[in-house]
Amino acid sequence: MDHFELAPELAEEISAHALECYPEEACGIIAGDGDAGTKLYRGRNLSATPRVAFELDPETLARQLDFETAGLTMTAIYHSHPSGPATPSEADIVQALYPDSVTIVCSLADLSSPVLRAFQIAQGQVREVSLEGTARTCSCLERANLARRQLRPLDIWYGDGSPGGGVLEPGAGYLKGHAVCY
Ligand SMILES: [Zn+2]
Repeated sequence: MDHFELAPELAEEISAHALECYPEEACGIIAGDGDAGTKLYRGRNLSATPRVAFELDPETLARQLDFETAGLTMTAIYHSHPSGPATPSEADIVQALYPDSVTIVCSLADLSSPVLRAFQIAQGQVREVSLEGTARTCSCLERANLARRQLRPLDIWYGDGSPGGGVLEPGAGYLKGHAVCY
């Protein structure tokens, strides 16, 4: 497989889910047919260290039974890297249990511009799969707007958080990376 056809609204949905779970990893599965993904199921991350790992909940994995009766398969599994790159980590490669499903990684290293990349991982071998076409419909501006919609504006505080400080400008800051930027 050289190309995976991810419906553009699913690409948006993955980015939105990743931003909602930030700074923890989001994860979920995608049903489809052949080299295409057409329906997304958000999962819950059961990992004990959800900021650096993910473990899909069994209920979401069991959804496969529903869509398989409809003739679809789990064509992709997605998860996010809250601060890492959009490439599989060592653990992602070792723990890839579904060689027939494409692994989609969403990087939030730049929160205003989530990056999606897709890979086939089988027996420790990683091969990138193109998401071209999906990326064209998801412009930088749209991604930035999505990030702004999903992130709750933060209050800018004065003082160090101890009594005596207070809100200087409500809702004027946004989370970016690990720091609040104004
Ligand atoms: Zn990962």
